[in-house]
Amino acid sequence: MVSTEQPPAVVRRGTNLDRVGGFNDTVVLDAIRRADQRLSRVEIAAATGLSGQAISNITRRLLVAGLVREAGRQKSTGLGKPRTLLELEPTGQYAVGVHLDPAVVTVVILDLTGQVVARRRAETPATDDPGLLIAGIAATVEEVIAEASAPRERVVGVGIAAPGPIDVERGVVVNPPNLAAWHLVPLRDALRERTGLPVLLDKDVTAAASAEKWAGGSNGRGSFVFFYLGTGVGAGLVIGDEVVRGSSSNVGEIGHVIVDPDGPICYCGRRGCVGEASQPRFLVQQAMQAGILAQGIDLDDRRAVDGAFAALCSQAGEGVEAAREIITAFAARIAKVVEDIANLLDLERVVFGGPHWDQLAPFFGEFVRAAMVERFLVRSVHPFVVTGTALGADVGAVGAASLVLDHTFSPNPSVLLLGPAESALAAAQVVSVER
Ligand SMILES: [Zn+2]
Repeated sequence: MVSTEQPPAVVRRGTNLDRVGGFNDTVVLDAIRRADQRLSRVEIAAATGLSGQAISNITRRLLVAGLVREAGRQKSTGLGKPRTLLELEPTGQYAVGVHLDPAVVTVVILDLTGQVVARRRAETPATDDPGLLIAGIAATVEEVIAEASAPRERVVGVGIAAPGPIDVERGVVVNPPNLAAWHLVPLRDALRERTGLPVLLDKDVTAAASAEKWAGGSNGRGSFVFFYLGTGVGAGLVIGDEVVRGSSSNVGEIGHVIVDPDGPICYCGRRGCVGEASQPRFLVQQAMQAGILAQGIDLDDRRAVDGAFAALCSQAGEGVEAAREIITAFAARIAKVVEDIANLLDLERVVFGGPHWDQLAPFFGEFVRAAMVERFLVRSVHPFVVTGTALGADVGAVGAASLVLDHTFSPNPSVLLLGPAESALAAAQVVSVER
């Protein structure tokens, strides 16, 4: 069964021990963030398991720090005076997100509530010099901060989402298959030097999964796989409301799962890897062979292939049979991989996204759903939902920024935010004032 039913969000419980004040501050902030409405102190106490006195102290600190604000009063129930309601103060903190895709660079700045305040998108320059690209990114970071009118001291840091594999500890982009000039580029430190802001680096798919968790509404709850459809394919994982990273933060390298023994030869030397069989150039080649697209498209010209791929998608959307067959077969290959991941990890949902999703969304989700209906093994126990991101093409950049905001809301953030100086780190952990 395929359904759109979603479970409720899980709120963490606090502890009333004094020594973990910093922990409790983040628990309270997190409870306010996750609530669908403004909360009273009594409701925050109920959601977190903290005492009324603890909530009173913590909310006072958060008000002084400018991270929450009072927002009206609850209707009186006739018992005592009406309760003051609290919500996040959007201008309390900002985070910048950069998504480096082989085709496009996206930069966004989020406020504390996770809303995009400003954004820039530009084609990834075709340069052999990563230094030029980094300088361009740094300039764009300054532009979005200025456009958002964000005070510098309230900008918590910059998150970068990059194609894998990456070396998270050293902040290095190792050797992404679709960015030929990028070999062992120390992206994190270079950007930190240029901006003076704390910077973290993470995988694009992990960032996208994190964006869903933060800003995807019901899409982002529980256990799901974010399936990235771009120049490459990849999978980001959230299990039990936690972003899964693996032993080296390189989780989700699914590109070499073999889905078609008769498929195209992959650069790894084998045949029919899902990454290669999902490349626009392969699908465009199939469309040329089927006579749907004009002959002679240069398959090594990324722009030409992107244009032809868009034409193929719109023909499939219009119901041109041969085009639909190519996209249906593509969807079936993806469905096979999704099924294996979902069964292995007992997931509730796949969320599709990435640069190609907007073109594929009108029909691709249906094809995948149809291909999966009879196959998902756990379906007799719980439904499995096939859906697409509501965050559009910004999802990777939003995710990178939300990984930075994660430091504000999580007592044990999942990634290391490295700052240029002690003071910047202290600013990033402004809520952890009690030790
Ligand atoms: Zn391969």
